[in-house]
Amino acid sequence: MSNNKEGLEKYRWDLVNCERCSMCKWVHPWSVKNKKTAKICPSNQMYKFDAYSAQGRFDLARALLEGEIEITDKVLEVIYTCTLCGGCDVTCKFTRDMEPLEIFHELRKYVVKEGKGPLPGHMPAVESIQKNDNPWQQPKTRRGNWARKLKVKDITKEKAEVLYFAGCTYSYNADLQKVAQATLRVLQKAGVDVGILGNKERCCASPALKVGVEDTFKEIASDNIKTFNELGVKTVITSCSGCYGIFQGHYPELGERNYEVYQAMQYLDKLLKEGKLEFKNRIDMKVTWHDPCHLGRGGEPQDLWEGTRIKWGLSDPPRRRNYGSKGVYDEPRNVLKAIPGIELVEMDRIREFSWCCGAGGGVRSAYPEFAMFSARERIEEAKATGAEAIVSSCPWCESNLSDAIKADGNKIKMLSLVELVEQAL
Ligand code: SF4
Ligand code: SF4
Repeated sequence: MSNNKEGLEKYRWDLVNCERCSMCKWVHPWSVKNKKTAKICPSNQMYKFDAYSAQGRFDLARALLEGEIEITDKVLEVIYTCTLCGGCDVTCKFTRDMEPLEIFHELRKYVVKEGKGPLPGHMPAVESIQKNDNPWQQPKTRRGNWARKLKVKDITKEKAEVLYFAGCTYSYNADLQKVAQATLRVLQKAGVDVGILGNKERCCASPALKVGVEDTFKEIASDNIKTFNELGVKTVITSCSGCYGIFQGHYPELGERNYEVYQAMQYLDKLLKEGKLEFKNRIDMKVTWHDPCHLGRGGEPQDLWEGTRIKWGLSDPPRRRNYGSKGVYDEPRNVLKAIPGIELVEMDRIREFSWCCGAGGGVRSAYPEFAMFSARERIEEAKATGAEAIVSSCPWCESNLSDAIKADGNKIKMLSLVELVEQAL
């Protein structure tokens, strides 16, 4: 067996013991609200065949492991038409103690090691991360420009208790820089001693890991951990749910961290509870909250675990099941509900059963029509609530949902929660 299959080999038990129960395609039966919103897997909803679900990808991974099939273009398509949203990971655990998300990561790493992945559509982002420390083909020298007009500490020159990590998209995207700017102003208004890395901030490297380019991820992520530790900060705050998910879910494997990580909405909830922020202005608006996958299911704290499967598929040492229910769900809702005048109405699929915006896992760059399909389904679900706006806190969700709203001439707005927070202060 080629060494490249070692990662998949670790999951052999899962691959041969999938029950074909199909739970991975559906919201858990107790939480289904409506026939139209009963599915949880965007890939299966779009492409219809079982291959495009966790169940099918398990079969495919097993066949690759056994050498029964080759890595063809079709196999690559099945592997990469998955947003890595984790919906299946949560629902599969209600039946079997399986690890779909870990297997999908291993599948991608395997095809990259075999020289077949990632896809051409992923390459501009991967190469740009390797060259420019961001996936957007932008020079490093412009990374800190979003903060040019703000008075903020350069943490590489001046000590601060808290590091605000803007992330690549909030740093470079002209339409979304306002989110990083507003977050910083709100933190400063609450008296937080905060600094930024400016041009020295590097990509969290999540987009590289998501398409299977593990070496690049490990190099950059390890360097980021070293930087954060050496700064001596107690806290790292990021507005990007993608960065948050990777900081919480994958960085701990790479080294000890001397700091805590917060997504900005978690931190604002904490500041509200401590009385350091107070809303004075009313915003009369009916809104719905979209749970970003990497903040919700992906934001559940992970236990580091090394071990093996033993008889009956039990884990040795025992491993905690990750149901996704302990992700960051309440904090952004608490912030929204604290704003005078805001009425929060919920969609059918929320919290660990939330529907993905469609942008994750390299799908937006390689399969834009699939990304739009998933976004459109979420927008229809949001519209059914009667909300005037979808509110979220993730640059991927915000840009994908926003593009789909504009493409179809929808009236519903896409807002970042921090915009409402700043307006209400
Ligand atoms: S829920 Fe899990 S066990 Fe059931 S079909 Fe899907 S992957 Fe297999
Ligand atoms: S991660 Fe999401 S898109 Fe991929 S198979 Fe699971 S539910 Fe479907």
